[in-house]
Amino acid sequence: MATKAIFEKKNILVTGGAGFIGSHLCDELVKKNKVICIDNFISGDEANIDHLLQHPDFQFIKHDIVEPIALETLPELEKFRVQFQGIQEIYHLASPTLPKGFEQTIMQTALTNSVGTRNVLELAVGYKAKFLLASSSVVYGPRTAERIYFSEDYVGRVDQLSPRSSYDEGKRFSETLTATYAQVHGLDTCIARIFRTYGPRMKIDSGQMIPDFIFNALEGKPLEVFGDASFSSSFCHVSDIVNGLMKLMKHGETKPVNLGSDLEYKVIDVAKKVIELTGSTSEIVFQKPLLFMTPLGLPEITVAKERFGWFPIVLLEDGLQGVIDYVRAHKSIISSTSKRQVDL
Ligand code: NAD
Repeated sequence: MATKAIFEKKNILVTGGAGFIGSHLCDELVKKNKVICIDNFISGDEANIDHLLQHPDFQFIKHDIVEPIALETLPELEKFRVQFQGIQEIYHLASPTLPKGFEQTIMQTALTNSVGTRNVLELAVGYKAKFLLASSSVVYGPRTAERIYFSEDYVGRVDQLSPRSSYDEGKRFSETLTATYAQVHGLDTCIARIFRTYGPRMKIDSGQMIPDFIFNALEGKPLEVFGDASFSSSFCHVSDIVNGLMKLMKHGETKPVNLGSDLEYKVIDVAKKVIELTGSTSEIVFQKPLLFMTPLGLPEITVAKERFGWFPIVLLEDGLQGVIDYVRAHKSIISSTSKRQVDL
């Protein structure tokens, strides 16, 4: 006879759930679970979760994770019976990603990726919840002529005092803290090293290449490549990343795992494809490289493939069409205050 589950649905906490990746993750998780989404909107947007706010199995809490939070004291969580059921899984995605205003948010970035991560890990200890950290390919440092692909055992080359170290080193420290909590508290943790991701709900007019190419193509403005014709990168669709995060949580791999596309594209070819798909007459222009828009390395994804059968399946051309539809629908409401995104 099958063992009867104690709870009908898991309680799952997603920090940064109103962000680009987090909101897509909430969309998937809420199909079978009760989802608590925490965000302070520093780089996310309420519009990303508007459609979930009335869902009976979804609860949003506006909170800065740099401050501790006692979930059991929140009346809005009574419906999930957190006091009795606790939290079974935590996806920790919160981190500011605001390159246009990056200099103005470096303190929040450093604190969210240290104190904030600690506060979320403490929740995981308290509830004996499984914990997944959304780390980044930036922990490996810049790609070089000799090293284009990064495997998980590469220790990286990051300047802890660089102008963007609050993010790069912050992610490294979050990994260290996660590993330390696993050792000291026997916590069930996993670390996803996410590579460049794209899809609907990326901030438009933000400095991210794909939504900006599309926006400018639709507006008949020049598509700006920040670098030269050799600038290349990989792009993984957000649905593949969400699928990878959920598989990683289920599988429970203790060592870090790369999640990203291992196919490299010249950025200029992506721009040309956007022009073709939108039927635009825009031209492509080259601009000086941006500090926060540099070519990144590509992931070795053998570990994810072999351990839990994950690999990206959305072709760039198919994925682009979805973003074009999204930008078309939202371009009229782009706020002039939108901020430039950092190289993630
Ligand atoms: P995002 O900015 O859209 O999402 C991050 C969310 O965290 C935002 O909604 C933001 O408001 C929230 N947040 C930040 N600090 C917070 C705090 N102190 N308290 C509460 N909420 C806070 O970015 P994203 O692209 O969805 O990235 C999600 C995660 O994945 C981030 O940790 C990011 O570093 C990581 N990542 C993303 C990429 C990518 O290409 N998008 C690549 C590598 C890693």
